[in-house]
Amino acid sequence: MPFVNIIRHAPFIFFVNTTTNYKSSFVIIPPRLGLGRRICSCSGSLPSAPKSNVPLSPSQQTINGGKVTELKKKVELLGIQGHDSCLPGRYNYLFCPKCRGGKSMGRTLSLHIIEKGDFAMWRCFQTDCGWAGQVFADSSKIIMNGTVLEPIGDELIAYFAERRISKATLQRNAVMQRSGDQAVIAFTYRRNGVIVGCKYRTLEKKFWQEKGTKKWLYGIDDIKEAATVVVVEGEIDKLAVEEAGVHNCVSVPCGAPQTVFAKELPTLEKDIAYQYLWNSKEYLDKVSCIILATDVDDPGNALAEELARRLGKERCWRVEWPKKDDFSCFKDANEVLKCLGPEALKEVIENAKPYQEYM
Ligand SMILES: [Zn+2]
Repeated sequence: MPFVNIIRHAPFIFFVNTTTNYKSSFVIIPPRLGLGRRICSCSGSLPSAPKSNVPLSPSQQTINGGKVTELKKKVELLGIQGHDSCLPGRYNYLFCPKCRGGKSMGRTLSLHIIEKGDFAMWRCFQTDCGWAGQVFADSSKIIMNGTVLEPIGDELIAYFAERRISKATLQRNAVMQRSGDQAVIAFTYRRNGVIVGCKYRTLEKKFWQEKGTKKWLYGIDDIKEAATVVVVEGEIDKLAVEEAGVHNCVSVPCGAPQTVFAKELPTLEKDIAYQYLWNSKEYLDKVSCIILATDVDDPGNALAEELARRLGKERCWRVEWPKKDDFSCFKDANEVLKCLGPEALKEVIENAKPYQEYM
């Protein structure tokens, strides 16, 4: 089942939105199920869903029980714990794995498994958290703050195959797609297996990010114990580098600047554009060699310089992309993979030069 493939490498997947205000954004149960209403109670007394007076047949009870078990498994994999005693048809207040209840440290997460066991949904009522979502017993779809995500389909698999990126690599990185008629790639950002953000990309190269999520490097779990780290400029380049057998690679989340910022480095709090580096500090501090494999153009060089001045030039190396013809070079990791193959890409990375020499 696709969902199992996605979660196999991600024992605790969940989605976050750190700014959602529950008063203005809430989960609506589909009206066709007759339960269209808000979950908004934050009081200690838990509302119960309406109960049916018609007793269920033993076979129906077995079917529903199986679905509830399936849902509980999925919810567990999303990091929500303490659901063992949760009964379908009730609102259960649990600890939120995202915010742990904030300052109150209370049970701020409302989990509701609908009585027939078709789906479970949750929302955290801690004002700064607001993590919400839905999982389905019979489907691998996930709803993240209103956006339906599903396993990547044939059209996008073909799109990546043309870029020599395999289905196995897509699944290992939990790449999904937005449900709907337009093909939209959903790069899920994970930390400790938990999905902490999502970046969307259309085939026409239009990007946007899940609003309000803290920014991280893409693929950060792959550099947990790494002494050498490769940094690329986009998610597809990260996947390309993986095809070359190099897993200790991360991508920056928001591309390259046009030019190098002329002034002194801002303080940590004011360094908004590079907050993802500071968020990832505990990982990067352990690294002795950072190979900058950004694009060959001016923004790519500017990004390499901005990264190097923050990470320390003495431990940075720079990839030299091979020549395409007398006038130009291959521009990035994916282009090298596509045109020259995985071995050539690996070689280019291995032959990076010390950053200060490169300059
Ligand atoms: Zn929360």
